[in-house]
Amino acid sequence: MNLEYPTALQSLILHLKRLPGIGSRSAERMSLWLLQQPVGTLAALSEVLVQVEQEIKPCASCGFFATREGCAICQAPDRDPRLLCIVEQPTDILPIERTGAFRGHYHALGGRLAPLDNVGPEDLRIGELMDRIRTGEFEEVVLATGADVAGEATANYLAEILRSSNVRLTRLAQGMPVGGGLDTADSLTLHRAFQHRRNLSHDA
Ligand SMILES: [Zn+2]
Repeated sequence: MNLEYPTALQSLILHLKRLPGIGSRSAERMSLWLLQQPVGTLAALSEVLVQVEQEIKPCASCGFFATREGCAICQAPDRDPRLLCIVEQPTDILPIERTGAFRGHYHALGGRLAPLDNVGPEDLRIGELMDRIRTGEFEEVVLATGADVAGEATANYLAEILRSSNVRLTRLAQGMPVGGGLDTADSLTLHRAFQHRRNLSHDA
């Protein structure tokens, strides 16, 4: 007969195998390691998992990670209400925050335009973006999508549809790693890219 792990352990291995970058062997090693931890460790872990699922939601306004109390960025009273930085993913926000180069608000699109993968404007949070620009007091919109082809295409599309609105459009300066997303840039590079962001508006 083919001897297998007990069902619960097999199930744990299968769940861990779904994590990014984890294969069968790693999932098995992780499961066995977890099994050997002191009593209470796994209960604490499962509690955290449930808590994260129940409490962490994308902010309805900017798309950053929010709790029941709301989003730390949108609620901060000291942020510049005239500046809006558009990024592809909510995970692009913290690298920018760490540079200290930007103290405005953010808008995470939830992706970028990729026609070959069937990702069009309607799949991104562009309607929400237009609403915010219409109702907010933004004076400058920084297009901080990636410096690769899809990131540039997304920035060009946004520049096109935002031209008629009454905001100054800027794009991060070159110096960003070509072909890379924001998460691959070091802090200094990102800081400089912000300081030297260039104007995309016609009028200035
Ligand atoms: Zn927010």
